[in-house]
Formats: sequence, structure tokens, C-alpha cells
Amino acid sequence: MAFDYDLFVIGGGSGGVRAARVAAAGGASVGLAESSRMGGTCVIRGCVPKKLMVFASGYREMFDDARSYGWDLEDGAFDWPRFSGHLNTELDRLENVYRSLLNGSNVEIFDTRAKLVDAHMVEMADGTRKSAKHILVATGGRPVRPDMPNAHLGLVSDDLFQLPELPKRLLIIGGGFIACEFACIMNGLGVEVTQFYRGAQILRGFDDEARGLVAEMMREKGVKLHLGTNIVDMARAGDDHSMSFPGGGTDAAMGVPSAERVVESAADEGGPVWVKASNGTEAVYDAVLFATGRNPNTADMGLEDLGVEIGRRGEIVVDDYSQTAVPSIYAIGDVTNRVQLTPVAIREGMAFVETVFNGNPTPVDHALIPSAVFTQPELGTVGLTEEQAREQEPVEIYCTSFRPMQSAFAGRPDRVLMKLVVSKENRTVLGCHIVAPGAGEMIQMAGIAVRMGATKEDFDRTVAVHPTMSEELVTMKTPMRVA
Ligand code: NDP
Repeated sequence: MAFDYDLFVIGGGSGGVRAARVAAAGGASVGLAESSRMGGTCVIRGCVPKKLMVFASGYREMFDDARSYGWDLEDGAFDWPRFSGHLNTELDRLENVYRSLLNGSNVEIFDTRAKLVDAHMVEMADGTRKSAKHILVATGGRPVRPDMPNAHLGLVSDDLFQLPELPKRLLIIGGGFIACEFACIMNGLGVEVTQFYRGAQILRGFDDEARGLVAEMMREKGVKLHLGTNIVDMARAGDDHSMSFPGGGTDAAMGVPSAERVVESAADEGGPVWVKASNGTEAVYDAVLFATGRNPNTADMGLEDLGVEIGRRGEIVVDDYSQTAVPSIYAIGDVTNRVQLTPVAIREGMAFVETVFNGNPTPVDHALIPSAVFTQPELGTVGLTEEQAREQEPVEIYCTSFRPMQSAFAGRPDRVLMKLVVSKENRTVLGCHIVAPGAGEMIQMAGIAVRMGATKEDFDRTVAVHPTMSEELVTMKTPMRVA
């Protein structure tokens, strides 16, 4: 049977674009449909604009520190419209780069939504149908709001890049990557940030000691972090509501009687939001951000009708080769809800092409993936946490926490953490956890060693680079504890 394409990709994010380009470069005829902007979550409303905001937010401390280093600086204000204009120009540029890469690889682009109508056929929004020998679903995910009344009054991370102005008081719900990163970003930009996390400590799943230090540093830098606390009710507050707390700040605003809440009207024109917390307190914020997780984009795609298995969170269930229950249909990236990280989606895309187009079945290896949370300070991690490793085998913990030279000189109380989790039996470094400015850069390097199966003695044999923070990773002689 003759198909229109060898491969049709639904979704123009990092994973889909990479798979399309590499398959086309190998000689396959490829079509790709994207309903929004080319580049997907990472480029348009995720990693890239977020990291630029991380940079923007870091200058406030730098200006303060610069004075301690002898620079004569005037206090300046952050100009959000100037930054966001520049940000949007940069995103336009990147989107065009993605588009030209696809064009340059002869991938035919369809700027429209597509869904599946049979195992080899996709249908565009205008009814156009295209057949393909293989179909790759790479539709990513989207932020979800909790199921509660008036949740639509809250923002999600997509909205943060398009704000007309910065809120003065922001409440963030959640304790994961996005919640913590934006708490730090907004705090750095001068927004008064309150964060509610329902659990006992933020960044669940990360090493306890590391996340404890991140939480401590976030508080130290001004984030009002409330643990064991969640939002239970919200409504649009009256305009005069915010006026009753001039500069009072979030905590000062606690205790607003609920009778003052304004009942939601059909024509909601925005404005401050009244919130009731699980600890009984009430407050008004200029904006509420739900950073409560992301769900896979599988709705209304025609997948279940074809026999593609969909999991509990709406994810496409795939095997080690990213193949679904329908042999001609594959899925990669966030839509499969394996590991929601851009480089993982790209790996999955490359492995798919290797398997399907190069005749070389390649499973995706999801072990020992280094990652970083771009909080201030950053948290970089690879391998097992101390808690996970202790469950597995006896371990030695090498750990040091200290005030780094640069901020200590400037009189700031910041602390960093360098930690190695080492197998007692064979001395392999099972995990490395770093809390420090630049931890994302450091963990990429440490990740190579851990991935290669380096032992503690391999680390010890490596000469320190002095003076740096990360030299501590090769100079820790005595275990802090044995567990
Ligand atoms: P996460 O899963 O990391 O965090 C979701 C948070 O929301 C958790 O703290 C969770 O609490 C909380 N939560 C979930 N439901 C509710 C609810 N109903 N009420 C209150 N709190 C709730 O999701 P994110 O949205 O932060 O990020 C999604 C993914 O994107 C990440 O897992 C990560 O893979 C990726 N990402 C990676 C980044 C990076 O590499 N730097 C940056 C940003 C995102 P609990 O812990 O109790 O479940």
C-alpha cells in the first residue's frame, strides 16, 4: 500500500521535531502537524523562557553583591514590559529556527491540529487526511489546575510568560519543579511570593538534605513558604479589597473575613483573588499560580478508538521502543509521562528513528538521568537519593555544607551543599546531589562520572580545581555517616 508519508509526526515540540528531522535526513518522507507554535513547551512556554527569567531574576542579588565588591551602583527597578518584549522577540527567533530546520530537512509542516482516524491516517482540523506508514504522537502535556471551585481564576505556568505586568503579591500552589522555580524567579524580580505546599517538604522525590537546604535558602531570600498547607477556597476579591491592605503584604493580609469575598460573576474582569488556606487563614493576592503538575495531551486524539492504550493520568502507554499497542503508532515525550524532561523526549525521538528507520532496535535508557531545578540556589541531582540508596544497600554518605566564597564576601548567609551517596560494598557513587549557584552546570559533569560507574576512589584521585565550590566533591575524606 502506498502512503503519503513514511512518517507523520503530531506535535512540533523538542521530541517531535528531532524525530522528524532525523528521519527525514535519513531519506524518509515526513509530515508534521503542530497546532500551536513550533518548538513546543520547552522553547515557547517552558525551559527556555523560564531560564531567561531565571537570569533576569538573578540580577537583583548581583547588584547588591556588586556594591560589596566595590562597584558604585544606583538602585534600579526591574522593567517587566522591556524584558518581556525582548523575551518575545527571542522566542519568535527560536520558533523560526525550528521551522527552518524542518524546512531544511524537507519535512512538510502543517500548522494545524491533527488527530488519528485509523492506524495509518491522520486528519487535520480542516478535514484534510494524510496517510503514513508510521505515526509518531509527540503532543506533550499541559498544566493542570486542581479540581476546585473557581480554579479558573488561577494562572498556570503558560500564562506567566505573557503577563501584561508583574503581580505585587503572588500565591504559588505546589512544591514541585515549576512551583519552586517560579517562587524564586518572581521573588528575585521583586514580587512578594507566598508558596503553599501540601506536603511536609518541597521537591518530593529529591534527596531530603538537598531539598531541605533549598527550602531554607528560599525562605532566607524572602519566599514565604508554608508547608503542610493547601488552598481550599478562592474567589475574585473586590477592587477595594486589595486597597484595604496597602503594602501590607500577604501575611499582613491574613485574616480577611470570608464574608468579604465577592461572588463570581459571569463577566469576570480580573483583579485580586481572595484565598482561603487549609490552615484557616485568608488573604488576598494579585495572582494565584497553580503549579500542580502537568497532564499528557491525549484528549480528543482518536487514540482509544484505535486501540491505543491510555493510562491512568491520560498518558499513552508504550513499550521500551516507544511503540503503542497499535504497531504503526509510536509515542514519545511528555505525552507518555515517563520522564517529563526535554532531553529525554529528544532521546526517545532519536531511539524511535533508530528502531523504526535504521533497523536497529534501540530501547530508551531512563537510568541515571541528571537533572536540575533552577531555584536560587539551584539543585542538581543524579542517581539515588540517600533515602533510596539506604533502602537498597548499606551506604556511606559524604556531605559538606558551607558558605561559598562569593556570597560570603558580600555578607550574604547563603550556604551550598555537596553530597555523594556511596555504596559501602563496591564503592560506586550511587548518587550526587548539589545545591549551589550553577549546580545545573556542575551536575552535568558529575553525571558523566556517575553514569560511568565511578567509585568514590575515582573521585578522590581527581585533583581539585581550586578555588571552586565543586572541588569539595573530590576532597571529602570522611563519611558524614554510614547508613
Ligand atoms: P511536579 O509533579 O513536579 O509538581 C507538582 C506539585 O503540585 C507537587 O508538589 C504536588 O504535590 C502538587 N500538587 C499536585 N496536585 C495538587 C493539588 N490538587 N493540590 C495541591 N498541590 C498539588 O509538576 P510541575 O508542574 O512542577 O512540573 C511538571 C514536570 O515538568 C516536572 O515533573 C518535571 O519533570 C518537568 N519540569 C522540569 C524542569 C527542569 O528540568 N528544571 C522545570 C519545570 C518542569 P505532591 O508532591 O504532594 O504530589
